[in-house]
Amino acid sequence: MSSTGFKGSFELISQHGEHEQVVFCHNKDVGLKAIIAIHNTTLGPALGGTRMWNYKTEEDALIDVLRLSKGMTYKAATAGLNLGGGKAVIIGDSKTQKTEGLFRAFGRFVNSLNGRYITAEDVGTTVREMEYVFAETPWVTGIPKAIGGSGDPSPYTAHGVLMGIKASVKEKLGTDSLKGLRIAVQGLGNVGFHLVEYLAKEQCQLIISDIDQDKVKRVADIYKAQVVAPDQIAAMECDVFAPCALGAVVNDQSLTKFKTQIICGGANNQLAEARHGDALRELGILYAPDYVANAGGLMNVFVELEGYSPDRALDKTTQVYDNLMRVFTIAKRDQIGTHTAADRMAEERIQTLGKVKQSHMGLSHRPFATLREIKNR
Ligand code: NAD
Repeated sequence: MSSTGFKGSFELISQHGEHEQVVFCHNKDVGLKAIIAIHNTTLGPALGGTRMWNYKTEEDALIDVLRLSKGMTYKAATAGLNLGGGKAVIIGDSKTQKTEGLFRAFGRFVNSLNGRYITAEDVGTTVREMEYVFAETPWVTGIPKAIGGSGDPSPYTAHGVLMGIKASVKEKLGTDSLKGLRIAVQGLGNVGFHLVEYLAKEQCQLIISDIDQDKVKRVADIYKAQVVAPDQIAAMECDVFAPCALGAVVNDQSLTKFKTQIICGGANNQLAEARHGDALRELGILYAPDYVANAGGLMNVFVELEGYSPDRALDKTTQVYDNLMRVFTIAKRDQIGTHTAADRMAEERIQTLGKVKQSHMGLSHRPFATLREIKNR
């Protein structure tokens, strides 16, 4: 990477968290410039999606992939999955520069890692491109259902968030039922729409908001929800605020407005900064750390690796309940915010299992053979 240079790259890598391996992928013929970052494989192969983005500089792309891959390590670890953390970025415009050749070339780089890194969709990539990747490597998830894939993860993410809301309500309000609780859902996209569907079945009082008025109208008509403007939803008096749109919804401004007891939703990176998690604790608002609450989608692709079954995937997402309860227990044990407790829970699992795996006990079975078998049929 010419603009960063070797020295700069290594400095960035050590600044962003002790990654095991960073692979720069280049193919001039198809215009491929990509970076695969493998953060930690103590628990298993590194899994994380491929983001295609028009980064301003190569350094921006490197920083993004380092940050995102570390996040995947923590997400997989707290989800109780035998997966490590990794991520890939392709530098380019996803609207104009996607070609079969580009993704086939990228797939060959993924294949060269021989299962240490498994990819999936992310911002700027879809099932279609994963099918191109699959033509070159079995180490890809999120492929079409017709060839053994798991399809759209958002219903599973939403089901996991529902389990997260149930755990948070149990912890904060001491009840098992969501009936009659006021729940404010921000964002009615893939995850938010399915979450509203689940919450309506639980007979919650729903407050909804989206910047897209067609989505608002559709959901309000079906579920008789109270509609509020996008700049009002975070300030609504409610039991649970469920962010399912943007990141950084917990920030200096919103902290002064919240009238909720619990924050639990599907959006990534809900805290603008870690200190905002501490502020929620001081305010007595229970925060369900985003990467624990929204791990249902990752659980779904994990099941794809074992040989996909929708029922098993849905069943797996119920584990979000216990995972969050464990986070809450650590937060109370150590007198810390739940966001710090989640990080601690991930680090404890990685440390413990890392030690367990140190002794040689003979060869274990080869996991995740299914995709390879499908491909070789
Ligand atoms: P999406 O794009 O389908 O939905 C986002 C919705 O938020 C859109 O309807 C958009 O109009 C709305 N929105 C944007 N700005 C808003 C605002 N200011 N106020 C209210 N609504 C606003 O995305 P998605 O797949 O539903 O994902 C939602 C969030 O969950 C993202 O942060 C994503 O990273 C995260 N997430 C998604 C999955 C998944 O399975 N899709 C898994 C894990 C995490």
